[in-house]
Amino acid sequence: MRPGELVIVGAHYDSVGNPGANDNGSGTAAIMEAAQVLGARAFEATLRIIAFDNEEGGLVGSAAYVDAHPNDSVRCMLNVDTIAQDGGDHKLSIDSSNHLAMENQVAAAMGRYGQGIVTVVRQTGDMSDHLSFESGGFTACEVYNNDWWDHGDPYIHGAGDSVDTPGYINYAFATKVTRGVVGFLAEQAVLVAAP
Ligand SMILES: [Zn+2]
Repeated sequence: MRPGELVIVGAHYDSVGNPGANDNGSGTAAIMEAAQVLGARAFEATLRIIAFDNEEGGLVGSAAYVDAHPNDSVRCMLNVDTIAQDGGDHKLSIDSSNHLAMENQVAAAMGRYGQGIVTVVRQTGDMSDHLSFESGGFTACEVYNNDWWDHGDPYIHGAGDSVDTPGYINYAFATKVTRGVVGFLAEQAVLVAAP
């Protein structure tokens, strides 16, 4: 056992002047599901599941968290931000500034547990809470729907980011991504016992 070692998963729960169904109700739902599925199980490491506030204002919540925990032993931090848009190709972006090895581990877990998710590994950094962890010297990356790259997102940060927008929120895709996230966390924290 190594309970002092943390495996962190996070999602921001604020949004920009709209219901925030995709950005980032989808990621928030994913980490709540991870807590539901994994919370009753035992792991060698400690799983820490965090909902961050005020990502949209400049990564404020995650930066405050990192500032308050500079000496944590963090194996890795996975950020789940906007995972419910799928134009039909089932693509998920995995992105970081410079943590390619972790990104490849996430991609492998998506392959094992994602039920057809196609991963695209990027190193653009993007702009979300994983950057606070990378800036703090921790290993971190993000998952988000790749459709943003291929087709754009007409609803992000607008009133249309709602479950009421026809054809926008793809529950099946978000569920598969969530499966991959949960599988990745179980692998990284190392499941030792079932309830
Ligand atoms: Zn977001």
